[in-house]
Amino acid sequence: EFKLADRVNRIKPSPTLAVTARAAELRAAGEDVIGLGAGEPDFDTPQHIVEAAIDAARNGQTRYTAVDGTAELKQSIIDKLHRDNQLSYSAKQILVSCGAKQSLFNLMAALLNDGDEVVIPAPYWVSYPDIALLFGAKPKLVKAGAESRFKISPQQLEEAITDKTRLVILNSPSNPTGTAYTKAELAELGSVLERYPQVVVASDDIYEHIIWREEPFSNIVNACPSLADRAVVVNGVSKAYAMTGWRIGYAAGPAPLIGAMNKVQSQSTSNPTSISQAASVAALNGDQGCIEPMLKAFKERHDFVLDKLNSMPGVSCTPCDGTFYCFPLMQEAMERLGCDDDVAFAEKLLNETGVALVPGSAFGLPGYARISYATSMENLEKAMERLHKALS
Ligand code: PLP
Repeated sequence: EFKLADRVNRIKPSPTLAVTARAAELRAAGEDVIGLGAGEPDFDTPQHIVEAAIDAARNGQTRYTAVDGTAELKQSIIDKLHRDNQLSYSAKQILVSCGAKQSLFNLMAALLNDGDEVVIPAPYWVSYPDIALLFGAKPKLVKAGAESRFKISPQQLEEAITDKTRLVILNSPSNPTGTAYTKAELAELGSVLERYPQVVVASDDIYEHIIWREEPFSNIVNACPSLADRAVVVNGVSKAYAMTGWRIGYAAGPAPLIGAMNKVQSQSTSNPTSISQAASVAALNGDQGCIEPMLKAFKERHDFVLDKLNSMPGVSCTPCDGTFYCFPLMQEAMERLGCDDDVAFAEKLLNETGVALVPGSAFGLPGYARISYATSMENLEKAMERLHKALS
């Protein structure tokens, strides 16, 4: 066996990307597969954004930029955080990366020592625990199921924090559950964090704009401004502007931490793609009206999928506040089909119905499944029909 570093043996490949790859494989082999595993909008990037990228390529914006992003993009991010989030940052507090994923990677690289603990509410976005493991830290999972709309309580947070806790990661609206914390709930979590000055909080706001509940979006810094000097806001253009392939995300936080993250990035990827940065300026500064039709479509699909799932025997699904995922409890349906766990269940569904979804255990909460409705209504109708048949 080829000898590899311990750190790489501690982690696994992203399970959501694996499901997408498996579905693509079956499709290539001629199977009629409907993928409900995708973590990306099915829309094209709005034209004005694409045009900005073409202009940039034609106008010679094709060289290295500053590692932490162009001055222009950093200013657009500062303006965006002010406009949308009522947060004030200076240029030294902003780092542009190759996706929000790299921002989180840089954060954990810059912050965590061996043995440190990272508090991660479960179900979680698949990469949080593995990035923590890569840097020798220990994920401390805090479970919250459908009964609490997948939200952890202040008591749970308090119990999870120890002397070793260095980081807490919040993601709202959440991948995989589609639920979001209210400002009041965040204020309660914030008042726990106020008592632990050694703890940094990361707020993954990537689904900020894909929200339809009545209360507007807010993050932990809005709810608890006293945490600003140890909070890192992570966001990006991938989900709101259908720009997953462009790979631009960013982090905003205390200058010393952002500076350290910049140093990590300077020794790995250097700057994110110059052309993508120009496109992101157009996304953030341009007409925000391009988000609305996508949001409307996601909401319509959510309503349809929720209704269909809740009519299936052994399935119950909590309504979402946003995103393009839902996270139905399918334990009873699994047992009835004679599956030992949700991985076997997802495989059986893929093989027998051609519907690809991601088992809840991939997100740290077995018995559930993540369904992405970032696909056409036509596909969703077919998929729900097939699932209904298989489970009846
Ligand atoms: N955070 C969450 C919760 C996500 O769902 C994703 C993408 O799936 C990301 C971060 C990473 O986004 P990107 O690296 O495309 O900006």
